[in-house]
Amino acid sequence: VPLSFDTEGATPMMMQFLEIKEQYQDCLLFYRMGDFYELFFDDAVKAAEALDIALTKRGKHQGNEIPMAGVPVHSHETYLQRLIRKGFRVAVCEQMEDPAEAKKRGAKSVVKRGVVRLITPGTLTEDSLLDARRHNYLAAVSEVRGKVGLAWLDMSTGDFYVQPCDMGGLPAALARLDAGELLISDKLLNRSEMFDIYAEYKNVITPQPASRFDAENAQLRLKKLYEVAALDAFGGFEIAELSAAGALIDYVDLTQKSQMPRLAPPQRMAAGAAMEIDAATRRSLELTQTQSGERKGSLLSVIDRTRTGAGARLLAARLSAPLTDAGTINKRLDLVSYFHDRDALRSDLRAALGECPDIERALSRLSVGRGGPRDLAAMRDGLACAFEIGNLLHKPDGGNDGLTTQPAALVDHLTDMGHHGDLVDLLRRSLSENLPLLARDGGFIASGYHPPLDELRMLSSESKKLIANLQARYTEQTAITSLKVKHNNVLGYFIEVPAKQADRMIEIDEFIHRQTMANAVRFTTVELSELESKVSKAGDQALALELELFDTLVTGVLEHADAIARCAQALAGLDVSAALAELARDQGCIRPTIDDSLAFDIRGGRHPVVEAALRENGDSPFVANDCRLEGEQSLWLITGPNMAGKSTFLRQNALIAVLAQIGAFVPAETAHIGVIDRLFSRVGAADDLARGRSTFMVEMVETAAILNQASDRSLVILDEIGRGTATFDGLSIAWAVVENLHEVNKCRGLFATHYHELTALAAKLAHLSCHTMLIKEWQGEVVFLHEVGAGSADRSYGIHVAQLAGLPKPVIKRAEQVLKTLEKGEQGGAVSKLADDLPLFAAAIEQVKQEEKAKTTALSPEQKALLDAVAEIDPDNMTPREALDALYRLRAMR
Ligand code: ADP
Repeated sequence: VPLSFDTEGATPMMMQFLEIKEQYQDCLLFYRMGDFYELFFDDAVKAAEALDIALTKRGKHQGNEIPMAGVPVHSHETYLQRLIRKGFRVAVCEQMEDPAEAKKRGAKSVVKRGVVRLITPGTLTEDSLLDARRHNYLAAVSEVRGKVGLAWLDMSTGDFYVQPCDMGGLPAALARLDAGELLISDKLLNRSEMFDIYAEYKNVITPQPASRFDAENAQLRLKKLYEVAALDAFGGFEIAELSAAGALIDYVDLTQKSQMPRLAPPQRMAAGAAMEIDAATRRSLELTQTQSGERKGSLLSVIDRTRTGAGARLLAARLSAPLTDAGTINKRLDLVSYFHDRDALRSDLRAALGECPDIERALSRLSVGRGGPRDLAAMRDGLACAFEIGNLLHKPDGGNDGLTTQPAALVDHLTDMGHHGDLVDLLRRSLSENLPLLARDGGFIASGYHPPLDELRMLSSESKKLIANLQARYTEQTAITSLKVKHNNVLGYFIEVPAKQADRMIEIDEFIHRQTMANAVRFTTVELSELESKVSKAGDQALALELELFDTLVTGVLEHADAIARCAQALAGLDVSAALAELARDQGCIRPTIDDSLAFDIRGGRHPVVEAALRENGDSPFVANDCRLEGEQSLWLITGPNMAGKSTFLRQNALIAVLAQIGAFVPAETAHIGVIDRLFSRVGAADDLARGRSTFMVEMVETAAILNQASDRSLVILDEIGRGTATFDGLSIAWAVVENLHEVNKCRGLFATHYHELTALAAKLAHLSCHTMLIKEWQGEVVFLHEVGAGSADRSYGIHVAQLAGLPKPVIKRAEQVLKTLEKGEQGGAVSKLADDLPLFAAAIEQVKQEEKAKTTALSPEQKALLDAVAEIDPDNMTPREALDALYRLRAMR
């Protein structure tokens, strides 16, 4: 039943609740009541289910009971985290005045409340709600007069970007961002071109009224936010980009209730600046997550050696957007090289980075007023780390590459790190050693920093001392040895004696009775109350003063916000470069040659993830392979049985290209790559049930995208195109696709196929060459060498793989017969007679039985006895001891 906002007959509190809730219908409303956030009506039902907490009731509304659920304020972040993960949005409604104030207005008046913040997946800042090693982007798509603009920001770090785009390129750009929340106007969402995007991102899309995308308004907002008269300073933005950027700012303002976080001026990512990799390719290459959505097992998880959260985020962002400008790539590579050749420097740098807290995120929390003393400490320690790292990098470097100047990227980073000595010094002097999480808990300002605060603290501690002395005096005065001066939140300070001795206290006028308990009676005195009020007054004043000092310190930090953010970025850049150098050292990677040629020449290339997995399992080492896609062989046709390593080879070349263009060293002996503008990879399509498409349909849609978009600068990797349909259909399509890639797209490409017939194309197409996964047959067994050689496979060995997989022997036997008949038939051109030519299946079963029997009858009596003994062993029901005994017994029978 939808909630009615009719307040007829509601209690004053319910009336307030309903008025607020009406404005936030798409959110769960966390309604603050004392130490709890309470949820009512449907919100309570949903939250109780999602959080597995108790659903209770509180009074009635219009005759019906009101469902209620609540979470304690002190632990609400864990609950928030679970709700956000489950896709809920939460509006946090706080008490805006002291309940005592409300009481003054009358017994029935309600505490003022207001929503202070909307928590949505794209606007998080708390460490507990975020993954330290991943960016969390809020993105917006806008379309103005046929042009598409994309803007995105990370509220937790202040990064802000815009990019021109077109409808065709939008899916790839969105796949790259993998945003936590995506804003699209409801008008645009209704367009048919957006159907696929809606299907793909419906869990993260927050539809917005089209008015929020108004371009004019957007310009005003941007100008106001950055306090500039014209936006030209940021570069030339298109209207669609402005509109998207404006919608983001509007939304941040809305969710943060005007408490704007610090956002860097929007940077424009030019069209074509990043290698375009569409969603299907990303999935199939498992760049930042595996097909099942986990980080472990992805390329990122295998190459990530960063020491800081900011470094990890930067590496993930770079991996999602490899560059296309050879100059910029080489600049990055220069720095990786520099650290690669300086083991001592690299290890010192990485050790120092390991001590560096996450200043980007601390800065963002401070800027939205959600920071605490520990965020100030993070600032102090992070900036101090930067200073140390600066010194380290300025020292004579001990490199063995004969470089006399530092690489340009290093010089840039050192400049960006800046000088923050004064701020570090201020924070060192002002913060005490043990810091509370929240400023309102007090006690975080160091003694000696602010004399008036020291005085208040002294006052309070002296009074506390006097209170402690009172206990001795009263004990002496009353001769009650068990008399104690105690404190609790209700009574404050009081004197407690056992009930039996209470009479003696009552006789003395000085003691004023406060409370009688089962076993004890509590008293106070005028002196005690006076001291107590001194303590609490001094305490209140001290806390107020501390909060004032906190605000001043925060303001002091925020004055340097841009410089601090630049410093944090520089540290992240250093972390990534040193981490890639470290990776290159321990994985044997080399610096690729990157230029604007059309070269693709990898010698001794390896698949970083498969190699790591083989090593982890202690399997045989990875077999390195060459791949030269140039001139007469810019397109490779690769045949070979299943399990021979085709997919691995295909993927490894794509991954090497990606790594090279993010400016990383690559797992190979040498590599020369002319910059790739777009990367396509289709390796085994899966059913897309969400969109009601069959495997084959998905495969064809994706293949169409490749044929329509791939240029001579692209790299295309296709595995088994056409497999999802009948043989002749599939073969014909695969055939035509290869011809199109060769004649029209003229891209560099690898094409793996089961259709041996395709190898005939090599004779006709000048740039197509045939390669195969080499196989050795040994004693009737197939051995995969995982080596790529020239030529084509003569057989598919599928039956051997089936045998390895444990298919029943009669089935294997039968398949061999069918294959033989087919091969004969093919030559005779009479496949249709297959069923007639084959003997019955039952005959195959019989034949296998005979063969097994022949094997056993050929055995000697000793061998038979041994076999019988083995058959008798029941490993599931043996103790280790019995198993060992059995082994010895068997060996003795040998
Ligand atoms: P295909 O695509 O031909 O069916 P895969 O590429 O899936 O074969 O490879 C099958 C398995 O063979 C992989 O999981 C891996 O363990 C192993 N393998 C593949 N390539 C190599 C290689 N170059 N060196 C060592 N092992 C490899």
